[in-house]
Formats: sequence, structure tokens, C-alpha cells
Amino acid sequence: MSKINEPREIKGIKIDPAIFTFKFGCRCNGECCYYGVYTDLKEYQKIIDIKDKIIPIMDDSQPADIEKWFEAPEKDEDFDSGVAVGTELYNKKCVFLDKNGLCSLQKLALAEKKHKWAYKPLYCVLFPLTIFEGALTIDDDHINRLKICNKRPENDISIYDACKEELIHLFGDDGFLELEEYKKECSSNESSKEVA
Ligand code: SF4
Ligand code: SF4
Repeated sequence: MSKINEPREIKGIKIDPAIFTFKFGCRCNGECCYYGVYTDLKEYQKIIDIKDKIIPIMDDSQPADIEKWFEAPEKDEDFDSGVAVGTELYNKKCVFLDKNGLCSLQKLALAEKKHKWAYKPLYCVLFPLTIFEGALTIDDDHINRLKICNKRPENDISIYDACKEELIHLFGDDGFLELEEYKKECSSNESSKEVA
């Protein structure tokens, strides 16, 4: 028999079991994009490589000058390449957020009939989840500093249920099945505690 909430690692990422119970509802227009995001060095390079396709899709609230798109790279072991590059803010929002609250990277992917997240940084896809010190967990620091995000009392589903598509994107179908097993294990351990 497994231990209560025995830590689980899937594809090299530890799982914080709190994701199975934390309540979350996504109902606003991209407030999470007001602070920008850290991209992996490879994601940064991919975005720079397609700059000529991104610029025409931007509006006048966004900078066409690519020198204004990113901060200086910094070391960060939570990124595959070991280097993170933050997106800059412009008009008090991520440079890639347009005035209608849409991400230009996602808009471009959709316009090209690619997967909607083909150009989107992983940490944008994952939020309100994040990977911190090698563990998939809740980005509560970011959630807490936002004014609208998850502040309504009618939120009623777990962050896990709210983010299934994102979790499949991260782990693939096989990894997601492992996650489902871990969830069942955690909830049966919780039930055993309740009846004990
Ligand atoms: S994750 Fe939060 S801030 Fe982002 S769109 Fe959803 S509710 Fe808004
Ligand atoms: S890259 Fe797109 S999704 Fe990510 S913070 Fe910027 S606007 Fe939002």
C-alpha cells in the first residue's frame, strides 16, 4: 500500500498534490499577462525567428521594435535550457498582449492554422500552474498579486480540472494518465483519513 500522498514524479517533474484540491475559476480577460512572463531561451529564439510575422499582427499598443520585447537573459534551472528570458512590459502589459486582451503569439498560431500554443511560452500555457524548483505547483504568488484572478467566491472546480488541456500539453497523454492515477491515490488516501 502506498504512503499517504507519497511524492510522485512524472517525466522528471515532481507533482504537488495541492493541485488536485485548490479551487480555481478562469473568467477574466488576461490580467495574468500584465506582468509578462519568463520564456526559456529556446522559446525566446523561436519568437525572435518569427518576428517578421508577429509585428504585422500587433496593434498600436504594442512595440514593433524587437529591442523592446525582452529583458536580459538570466540563469534559471526551472527552464529546460537553464536560461530564462523575461518578456518586457509596454503600456503596462506584456509586449505580446494586444489592446483586446489577446496574445499576439496565439493569434499568429491560429491565423496560420497551427496549434493555438505553437508559439506560446510554456509558463503562459501553464498559468495558474507553474514549475517551481522542479515541481508542478500552484503559482499562488502571481494569483495573489492579481486583482481579479480567482477572486470570485463561486469558483468551484479544482485547478487540476480547470487545466486538463494544459496538463496534457505538458505531460502528453501517457503522462496525464499517470497524473490521473496519482490523483486517485491522493483522494483515496484523503478518504481513508476521513473515515479513520
Ligand atoms: S488565469 Fe486568472 S488572470 Fe489569467 S485570464 Fe484566467 S482569471 Fe484572468
Ligand atoms: S506571451 Fe502572450 S500569454 Fe504570455 S504573458 Fe505575454 S501576452 Fe500573455
